[in-house]
Amino acid sequence: MNRPSEFHLIAELFAPLATAPGALGLKDDAALITPPEGCDLVVTADALVEGVHFLSSDPPDTIARKALRVNLSDLAAKGAVPTGYFLAVSLPNHLEYGWLTEFARGLAEDGKAFSIPLMGGDTTSTPGPLTIAITAFGYVPRGTMTQRAGAKPGDSVYVSGTIGDAGGGLELLTSETQAGNANAYLIGRYRVPTPRLALGLALRGVATASLDVSDGLIADVGHLADVSQVKIVLDAAQIPLSESLKSLWGTSEGTIVRAATAGDDYEIVFTAGDIDAECLGVRRIGHVTNGSGVFLMGNDGEITVSRTGFQHF
Ligand code: ADP
Ligand code: MG
Repeated sequence: MNRPSEFHLIAELFAPLATAPGALGLKDDAALITPPEGCDLVVTADALVEGVHFLSSDPPDTIARKALRVNLSDLAAKGAVPTGYFLAVSLPNHLEYGWLTEFARGLAEDGKAFSIPLMGGDTTSTPGPLTIAITAFGYVPRGTMTQRAGAKPGDSVYVSGTIGDAGGGLELLTSETQAGNANAYLIGRYRVPTPRLALGLALRGVATASLDVSDGLIADVGHLADVSQVKIVLDAAQIPLSESLKSLWGTSEGTIVRAATAGDDYEIVFTAGDIDAECLGVRRIGHVTNGSGVFLMGNDGEITVSRTGFQHF
């Protein structure tokens, strides 16, 4: 192993990212967080495991960005303003110092871009795959967090961005055919998702329920329907697909099902009454009724979906 001790790593690579006073320069056992008067602290955790959430061949800075961004995506879906994060890394011994400096660079750049300082964490070795666990937190005015519960019959269902791109990107990275600019776009969507933070803020008090799409659109809409105790009907033709994905996978109903079950989108899906979807940059993809479950409607009626999204086990 060619790298400095655990304590040097923390001091050299991680302490420069700990710019908030409450992080105490990563020199204490714990950090101090004082939520502003009248705010709730919104907390979320997401771990990334090599071979499950990223490929060992992915560039280290993009692995770091993805680890942070998937957590920012959760905060976005809750309407929270990100204010800090904790980082627990389990490092296989074969990782070189150069890999770690690139990893820290990605974290530093995204931390700056999203104004979110590192507050603390833990660093261990592991005989297993590289694991990066981030706990991120943010603030909302008390009682205003957008929850998964709250969708009402009569609401519409909306989604940001496009669906399925990361699935296309992952397929490209794990298959032989990789050339082309459109493909670089899809690979970028897999490696470096975009948390929809501004949209999340705009949806405070507007969305009746919301979550970010990580497992697959249909699976995640199913979670929202379950917790809200409603039935959700999605219109397959309205699910937004990028031109890049269409040129890779085509435009058939099968493509839509594939995109809507692929996962790793990190878009926001939410329910609300009548809103100006175009103005918010979102697409209306369905509606909420009495009942339970999620249904995907195609040109010839309901489309049977056997696998709705990613499940670890
Ligand atoms: P402990 O004695 O509790 O194990 P550590 O020696 O692991 O504490 O950590 C010392 C300090 O360094 C703490 O402030 C901790 O939050 C911080 N730290 C350790 N690892 C990381 C990391 N990967 N990212 C950010 N901060 C870290
Ligand atoms: Mg420790």
